Amino acid sequence: MTIDHAARRARLAAALPAHEVPALLVTSPVNVRYLTGLVSSNAAVLVRADGSALLATDNRYIDKTRALDVPAVEAPDVAGRLAAPGVGIEAAAMTVATFRRLEADLEENGGGRLVPLGPLVEELRAVKDEAELELIRTACALTDQAFADVLPLIAPGLTERALARLLDNRMTELGADKPAFDTIVAAGENGAIPHHAPTDRELRAGDLVTMDFGARYHGYHADMTRTVCLGAPAAWQRDLYDLVRRAQRAGRHALTPGARAKDVDAAARGLIEAAGHGEHFRHGLGHGVGLEIHEDPFLGPSRTGRLEDRVPITVEPGIYLPERGGVRIEDTLVTREGGPELFTKTTKELLVL
Ligand code: ZN
Ligand code: ZN
Repeated sequence: MTIDHAARRARLAAALPAHEVPALLVTSPVNVRYLTGLVSSNAAVLVRADGSALLATDNRYIDKTRALDVPAVEAPDVAGRLAAPGVGIEAAAMTVATFRRLEADLEENGGGRLVPLGPLVEELRAVKDEAELELIRTACALTDQAFADVLPLIAPGLTERALARLLDNRMTELGADKPAFDTIVAAGENGAIPHHAPTDRELRAGDLVTMDFGARYHGYHADMTRTVCLGAPAAWQRDLYDLVRRAQRAGRHALTPGARAKDVDAAARGLIEAAGHGEHFRHGLGHGVGLEIHEDPFLGPSRTGRLEDRVPITVEPGIYLPERGGVRIEDTLVTREGGPELFTKTTKELLVL
């Protein structure tokens, strides 16, 4: 499946008149990639209201632009090359220092302001086309396969760091660009920390072990969490797991185009609160995934907005008991009319190793 970058630029161009700018100067590298296909750490693209565009990048990447469907110029100062009076800029992507420098340059050349704007390209990116969904589907399949391959190696004595490395290496061997983010492995009491960084703590019999990881494939991210038990689970561990699993299922079933972000969150959170663990679930239910690991939309009690069709998103409730441990179960899915499509297919039965 090929990606139609011109169609994406046309959608952006159509959004510009509402913001009363003749063009948007896009400087976020991931947004430049989305609009042109250029993967770089230093590029900018000016997209005009008539749909035409001009790309600027430095001499490291200029050769790559020849294969693209947008004209390109070489410039060390990519934003400065394209800045013009009255154009919009991405306020979240440009530093204050760059903004001031560009405005000072415009002043010297006769004046004119830049117009800081919100996340216009991010809003376009939330709804994916089928080519993007295929890449995320593949990223999730690599993630599932890596977990299946590493599962037989999980045993007492392995450290959190060593287990994280096994997952990372396996995803890369299977064809991932690289891990989608810093892999989390949290054993026993460390499982009470949602974003625990792996340590040299060894896994022990009786531990719940939470693994949160994913593959990146052609720039697109997968995100999955599973919690397993080393040895027969205690009653509290099984109860906690069953509760998180039911909450996760309720969250998945609430994922439908048109649903309010906070209602999807509430579908899962309500079950956890009813069981008396509301205070132990302290993060949002999920987030969009795509060219970034965390992107619009976000699911949480105070999130506004509604889901659209073809939005890849995670559902990841967790319960974290201080000094005892925790459980989190996370899938990546995509909203569809008629029910979400599940991308991460690893079982959610409690795996007892
Ligand atoms: Zn995750
Ligand atoms: Zn996540």
